[in-house]
Amino acid sequence: MKGRRKPRYAMLMDTWTCVACKACVLACKSENAVPDGFCRDWLVEVTEGVFPDLRLENRSERCNHCEHPPCVHACPTGASHVSEGGVVLVTHHKCTGCKACIAACPYGARYVHPEGHVDKCTFCLHRVQRGQEPACVEVCPTGSLLFGDLNEPDSEVSRTLRARAHKVLKPETGCEPRVFFLVDRPAGTARSNEVAWTEAAR
Ligand code: SF4
Ligand code: SF4
Ligand code: SF4
Repeated sequence: MKGRRKPRYAMLMDTWTCVACKACVLACKSENAVPDGFCRDWLVEVTEGVFPDLRLENRSERCNHCEHPPCVHACPTGASHVSEGGVVLVTHHKCTGCKACIAACPYGARYVHPEGHVDKCTFCLHRVQRGQEPACVEVCPTGSLLFGDLNEPDSEVSRTLRARAHKVLKPETGCEPRVFFLVDRPAGTARSNEVAWTEAAR
């Protein structure tokens, strides 16, 4: 469309509403034929605070599709590259499995596929290009995952990032991740993954 800026895709993950059901992990494996023993996304559960002021932070993590991706710079064959919308991809037939990208990624987001090439999250670009949500976003029963265009000021991801406190993982790397974790309690919601019985202990 004339005058329209190119998209810059991002994902938001609500650490408050996620119930760690791992539906996102299963949906990804099914959608992307991820082999047994490997995954493109995974759950991290972190307990914060001191009893009785405890909070459980659930994070569904994946490749951050970094603005400055060291994996791409490390790849000697050009297999790892930045594609449409800033999505970082691996062209399988160009990948020699040398693992330079795996060593360069600070997030442990890549693995060697049994077929010999490196694999990781693609932001489900094949689905996005069809007008669909990524599989993990579509299946999440609590709506804890959001996907959209940061270059579109009225997109839900842009509006949510303006409204909610958020963080990225390992900001000190300078990679500028485009997976953002929402860290404040969503307005109008009841307590979600807080440990309910701690209040009874007061
Ligand atoms: Fe959390 Fe949603 Fe993934 Fe379930 S599907 S673990 S609620 S992000
Ligand atoms: Fe590359 Fe790792 Fe960043 Fe993904 S998270 S773009 S694999 S450096
Ligand atoms: Fe897997 Fe697609 Fe979600 Fe990435 S965006 S974790 S490839 S389902």
